[in-house]
Amino acid sequence: MTQEGRNLTWHPHQVTKQDRWLRNSHKSALVWLTGLSASGKSTIANELEQALFVRQINTFVLDGDNVRHGLNKDLGFSPEHRRENLRRVGEVARLLVDAGILTIAAFISPYVEERARIRGLFGEGEFIETYVQCPLAICEQRDPKGLYRKARRGEVPEFTGVSAPYEEPATAELVLPTGELTVQQSVERIIGHLEKNRIIVGD
Ligand code: ADP
Repeated sequence: MTQEGRNLTWHPHQVTKQDRWLRNSHKSALVWLTGLSASGKSTIANELEQALFVRQINTFVLDGDNVRHGLNKDLGFSPEHRRENLRRVGEVARLLVDAGILTIAAFISPYVEERARIRGLFGEGEFIETYVQCPLAICEQRDPKGLYRKARRGEVPEFTGVSAPYEEPATAELVLPTGELTVQQSVERIIGHLEKNRIIVGD
């Protein structure tokens, strides 16, 4: 049904995003971490959240686990459900960014088109595509959840990097080669980007 059909109207907020930025003393944006399973997305997301939090920045992490247990628990892993999973995540991220929160999302998000669609929900400079780049061999070695081992045995259908593609970003604002950088260094690079683009002010 169309929005008109349901008599829905979009109420513009009276407290604007800019008002929230002013009160928070920082802007909001979405740091979108994309990369293979075990590349380090969740680890970096959580360290980044912690580093921002201690700097008094309003921040929140969205990742597969916290959305698939609730908001998206009705969704599986078929291509259609994966698309819907990301569509909802994009919309939730937009609400969080509108609420003034520096949002961090950690999703494999293997397709260029889907990442571009999410970018399209945001204003200039608000979507920070961050490629967590790690060679497949290192991801397989790390394998913190044993998923690659299962995928190699054919127990996980359409596993990104093994039996499903990962399309590398061509438009990423940041690339973090986690086979070479420590977690701390990756976090520092993201914070450097946020400072350089005046989303947060330097310490
Ligand atoms: P993802 O969210 O991308 O699936 P995780 O963060 O869950 O990946 O897992 C990455 C694993 O690799 C963690 O166990 C982490 O401790 C480990 N690791 C080792 N070196 C690094 C690094 N330089 N950067 C990020 N993670 C690393």
